[in-house]
Amino acid sequence: MSDEQAVQDSIEVTPNVPWWKREIKLAEKRPFSKFTRWLLIITLPFILLNLFTVKPLWELGWRTRFYCLDNLFPVQSASGVKYAAGAWASSKRIVVYGAPGVSEDAITKAYDGMRAIVDEVGLDLRVERISPPADALASLQAATARGGEAPGFDYNKFMARRLDDRGAAYAEMVLMQVPFIQSGRILGLSNFASGLAVLREHRTGTDLASHEGAHLLGYSRHDDEMPYFIAGYSEALIPMERDTLMMPLPSTNSTLSPRAHNAIVNFWRGYERDGRRYFK
Ligand SMILES: [Zn+2]
Repeated sequence: MSDEQAVQDSIEVTPNVPWWKREIKLAEKRPFSKFTRWLLIITLPFILLNLFTVKPLWELGWRTRFYCLDNLFPVQSASGVKYAAGAWASSKRIVVYGAPGVSEDAITKAYDGMRAIVDEVGLDLRVERISPPADALASLQAATARGGEAPGFDYNKFMARRLDDRGAAYAEMVLMQVPFIQSGRILGLSNFASGLAVLREHRTGTDLASHEGAHLLGYSRHDDEMPYFIAGYSEALIPMERDTLMMPLPSTNSTLSPRAHNAIVNFWRGYERDGRRYFK
């Protein structure tokens, strides 16, 4: 085949039609099966809402638990008893105490921080400072593994044991001194479903307690996480540049961002559908 013929062949394959008039034909073999296409059509709005949203949808998403599905799953105690997520909420009670050896000053800061966040949101929850319950002392000891080089605190083990100890009688913020087994850099771990926040004493300030307190109240996110931008709130466009209480620690600001504040408010409003009141 000569070069001239080769040119001729190619002209026949691509007719001389301007690009804007050419018909776009799908390849014979479609890239997605019918099932995958429908799955994409259904899930795309959810994916988009997790990247970008607007204030009314953000608030509705917290009321309906769309943005906090992790707050819906039941939790299981060490002996296998299941508790509905946030079952403690009906007790309207959060207690704060320290493991043996934790300073009174740290417990005071934790109490102040927890109470500050409850007040800021306007929730009608009683925050109480108590001495560690006897069953909590045993569970603290059991959760502090002594294997290996240094002691480590097993949050999940403590949580499961505490559900057996106290059920859903209250939520608690506990201060202790050993590093978490996951990483020595973790300052606190909190979970709404089981109603447990555990903080390390050495870094406990009022702000850390408020930060973990907001997690305990259901705000299971940080302000630099998805959705990255919410129209209706004036916040830094670059998520990492936001300076609010609910940024990954350590943050330098002690107030909730409007996005976090409204999320917690609407999350608890969602609980009021059954006729209970949770706001002052
Ligand atoms: Zn956090």
